[in-house]
Amino acid sequence: MQKIEFNDLSAQYRSLKPEIDAGIAKVLEECHFISGPQVEELEQELCKYVGRKYCISVSNGTDALQMPLMAWGVGAGDAVFVPAFTFVATAEVASLMGATPIFCDVKEDTFNLDPASLRQQIERVKAEGKLNPKVVIPVDLFGQTADYDELEAICKEFGLWMLEDAAQGFGGMNKGRKACVFGDVSATSFFPAKPLGCYGDGGAIFTDDKEMYDLLVSIRVHGKGSFKYDNVRVGLNARLDTLQAAILLPKLRAFDTENETRNKAAALYTSLLKDKFDVPVVPENYVSSWAQYTIKAKTTEERDRLMKGLADKGIPTMVYYPKALHLQKVYEEYGNKEGDFPVSESLSKRVFSLPMHGYITTEIVTYVAEALNALAE
Ligand SMILES: *Cc1c(COP(=O)(O)O)cnc(C)c1O
Repeated sequence: MQKIEFNDLSAQYRSLKPEIDAGIAKVLEECHFISGPQVEELEQELCKYVGRKYCISVSNGTDALQMPLMAWGVGAGDAVFVPAFTFVATAEVASLMGATPIFCDVKEDTFNLDPASLRQQIERVKAEGKLNPKVVIPVDLFGQTADYDELEAICKEFGLWMLEDAAQGFGGMNKGRKACVFGDVSATSFFPAKPLGCYGDGGAIFTDDKEMYDLLVSIRVHGKGSFKYDNVRVGLNARLDTLQAAILLPKLRAFDTENETRNKAAALYTSLLKDKFDVPVVPENYVSSWAQYTIKAKTTEERDRLMKGLADKGIPTMVYYPKALHLQKVYEEYGNKEGDFPVSESLSKRVFSLPMHGYITTEIVTYVAEALNALAE
């Protein structure tokens, strides 16, 4: 058995080496390092792939989330609703704008924002009357889109903007619609470990709204007006560089094949593990892009034991995420406590993710599943 990688980026490079090397070489020859033609080409390809009108490539997924909040003028006194079980950036962008992240619980089966908890939190914030409900940021956790039918209806009912955090969701599908088309605006990340990753930091924003697109283009380069040295608003330096675009182009072309491999691997994991383990749930008419294949142990002790048992057999695993956001030190000022979001807390104590990537083999999946089954009690 070859060495098992959690996410085998080097297998991907070996497979796409000629195209990636040629793309990098071309950028080095042309020296158009910022805003080279590959950047616009990538934006067009991404629009075509996800099925949205406008794409703004940016420096990373966190900026991709923050920039729409800047465009909407979200700030002090505003409430931004986020799941408690996600990567910190989802909530951090609200804090960066001076707004208040309001945590909501997630669903035990899909790990995604629970519409019932969202409704409860919106109603509570409204009743308290201290903050203005403004934005909901549902997350497509581990490659699976959130429950957008329900979430869209809630945003409409309360007049809230929706910003899809598709940092892990790229390539997922929800009733025939691809991730990155939900909400008023959606944001994704090209961090190397994401389903579509570059060789550094990168991200993209999608929208169908021309006015929003124009604002985001301005914010991306220091709030430019008619040109770079005409500055009409406060912006960022948030461009995706040309090298990353050149690397992403061949990776995007290979994406569907890799996604198919991940889906086959997930189906095999599930068939081999479902009798003894709590395996991931994909609702009907959803397709995950399997940013992670995450199972639930019964307790933290069992998780520790299983992860150690797998490590002893050379199988790497990871815990996403070991601590719910409302219990992180950075958010202690809000006075949230253990017990506030029981599902998020329970998941953070029990979940762990198995090796998963676009080049994983049936042999590896079978080896991992057999090792796990042998450890089951
Ligand atoms: C990775 C990630 C981000 C941030 O993306 P970066 O490119 O690392 O800035 C935001 N939200 C979620 C859910 C993520 O997984």
